[in-house]
Amino acid sequence: MVKKVVYLTIDDAPSKDFREKVDFLLSKNIPAVFFCRGDFLEQRTDAVVYAIKKGFIIGNHSYDHRRFSDLTLEQCFEEIQRTDKIIDELYKKAGVRRPARFFRFPFGDKGASKNTEVFEPIQEFLRKLGYKQPKFKGITYKYFRRDGLANDADWYWTYDVLEYAVFNKENVHRKFFGIDNFEKVFERLDKDVPDGYGRYGGLNYSQSEEIILLHDHSETTHMFRPIIERLLAKGIIFKPPPPE
Ligand SMILES: [Zn+2]
Repeated sequence: MVKKVVYLTIDDAPSKDFREKVDFLLSKNIPAVFFCRGDFLEQRTDAVVYAIKKGFIIGNHSYDHRRFSDLTLEQCFEEIQRTDKIIDELYKKAGVRRPARFFRFPFGDKGASKNTEVFEPIQEFLRKLGYKQPKFKGITYKYFRRDGLANDADWYWTYDVLEYAVFNKENVHRKFFGIDNFEKVFERLDKDVPDGYGRYGGLNYSQSEEIILLHDHSETTHMFRPIIERLLAKGIIFKPPPPE
């Protein structure tokens, strides 16, 4: 058993199975931030209002999930702001004060892989709208501090469950970690894993807290409960995000 604190983030929500996942997390008393796509939010407003009323946090994951490095700066701003307004409306509809503004880039692509000069303008735009990353004092991974991830306005993650790799044959992590079936995803939860950047970490590493990345994809809905149950069995403690 590891006694390890983690923050659960679920990207690409809301899928058609969103409500089912919300109810499952509720039954286990597990807080989570759902990083949602604007186009999906527009399709499933009732389920999202329900999740907001139950205390889940709705984060911004752009409007239609394009790689920010492929967009113009104006398009990046539009992706952020359009979804920001949709989320505002949903909180209003739920009658709940929006507790925080959180943003995660689609694919973790901070927009600067082709043009590094756009990194700061996008970060500034996020800050201007009130987007902040919580202060993750318990995350002690050196790369998280050194690479600036800890200070960016957006949220990154420290542990990617990679459940989506089972269904995505092109995925680079699928090859790197040899993840071609559900069992491999499970096994990896118990391994000390290289993270793809020559560093080691993983859920057994008790010296750091973890930001866990899962997805709300309908292809992996059947994996959702077993993964969470396995994490609970490991002694993982799910906490709401610390103050910004
Ligand atoms: Zn995504």
